[in-house]
Amino acid sequence: MYCKNCGTQMADEAVVCVNCGVAKGAGVAYCHNCGKELAPGAAVCLACGVAAAPQARKSDKNKLVAALLAFFLGGLGIHNFYLGYKGKAIAQLLLSLIGWIIVIGPLVAGIWALIDFVMILVDKIPDSDGKPLS
Ligand SMILES: [Zn+2]
Ligand SMILES: [Zn+2]
Repeated sequence: MYCKNCGTQMADEAVVCVNCGVAKGAGVAYCHNCGKELAPGAAVCLACGVAAAPQARKSDKNKLVAALLAFFLGGLGIHNFYLGYKGKAIAQLLLSLIGWIIVIGPLVAGIWALIDFVMILVDKIPDSDGKPLS
């Protein structure tokens, strides 16, 4: 395979490029398969037809915002609305709004939100597209 940053051939088991020091798979300038320069933003290498390896695209959702929402408004499911988990969000919202009928509803929603809060902090919850939070 080739370094995606500088196009130098690198060993398959190499973790970083010995030429430029960039981590394997990082960079978008060169094809990892044939080492040819890629057109900016190309999804496919025009030289060999291989899909330019998907980069670990970051979510446009902010981790800190999600964590704060979970902490302060988590019982209302606001952080899940933010991350795009509509079903989960509505479930938490309903638990808080009408859960008081069974008394422990808001408590359950609160604990649930607290778990989400911790999961967000340790990067266990991506956004609803599966992209890691930025
Ligand atoms: Zn390199
Ligand atoms: Zn190629």
